[in-house]
Amino acid sequence: MKIILLGPPGSGKGTQGDLMQKKYGFPKISTGDLLRDAVERGTSLGKRAKTAMNQGFLVSDDIVISLVRERVEKADCRDGCILDGFPRNLAQADALDKMDDGSSVIVIDIHLEEEEIIDRLSARRICSRCQMIYNLSLSKLEHEGRCDACEGRLIQRQDDRPEVIQERLRVYRDETEKLIGYYQEKGLYNRVDGRGDIETVFHRICDLMNHEFDKTNRPEAAR
Ligand code: AMP
Repeated sequence: MKIILLGPPGSGKGTQGDLMQKKYGFPKISTGDLLRDAVERGTSLGKRAKTAMNQGFLVSDDIVISLVRERVEKADCRDGCILDGFPRNLAQADALDKMDDGSSVIVIDIHLEEEEIIDRLSARRICSRCQMIYNLSLSKLEHEGRCDACEGRLIQRQDDRPEVIQERLRVYRDETEKLIGYYQEKGLYNRVDGRGDIETVFHRICDLMNHEFDKTNRPEAAR
C-alpha cells in the first residue's frame, strides 16, 4: 500500500506521517527530510538542492524522483510506505505511477486554509538536535528556545521565513494543487480536515484508513 500525503506546507503532513508510521508500521518517506539531510551533509545532491529549498522553489524533478525511486525499492517498503511531500507536481505523479508495483494507493489531502498555514509556519520551530517539531503558539516550553525532549536549540527553518512561505504557497497553488484533479480522476483522492489539534486530525485519518482497510480486507489486528 502506498499512502500519499498531499496538502500544503504546514498542513501537518510530517507530524501525521510520523503517527501513521508508528501505528501502521509503514516507513514514512519525506522528500523534504531526505533533501535537508543531503544539504546538511554537503553532498553534491545537497548542494544542487540547497538554493531552491532556501527560496521555496521545487528541487528539480530528476533529483527528487531518483531519491524516491531508490528509497521505495528498499526492503522495508515491501508492504507499503507513506509518502510525505511527494509527488508535488504532475511529472512526479507520473513518475510515481511508473514505479507501480501493483500495490494499492490511497491519497490523503490534509486540507487547511492559507491564513492558518501562514500562522502555523511562522510559529514553527525545529530542534536542531533531534528534529522534533514545535509550534510556539501552542507549546509551553520548559526552557525558552530549547527542546523539551533533548534540550537542543530550537531553530526556524530557512524556508519558514515569511517571504519564503509566500513562495512555497504559490508553488503549491501553481503545481501541487493540480494533483487533486489528477487523483480524483483515478478515484484515489480523499480530503481530511486539517484543522484542530494533532490527535483530532489523526483520528480523522485513522477513520479513513479503516475504511480503506475494509476494502482491502486487511485483518483487524494489523490496523
Ligand atoms: P517540505 O519539508 O516537504 O516542506 O519540503 C521542503 C522543501 O524541499 C520544499 O520547499 C522543496 O524546495 C523541497 N522539496 C521537498 N519535496 C519536494 C518534491 N517532491 N519536489 C521538489 N522539491 C521538493
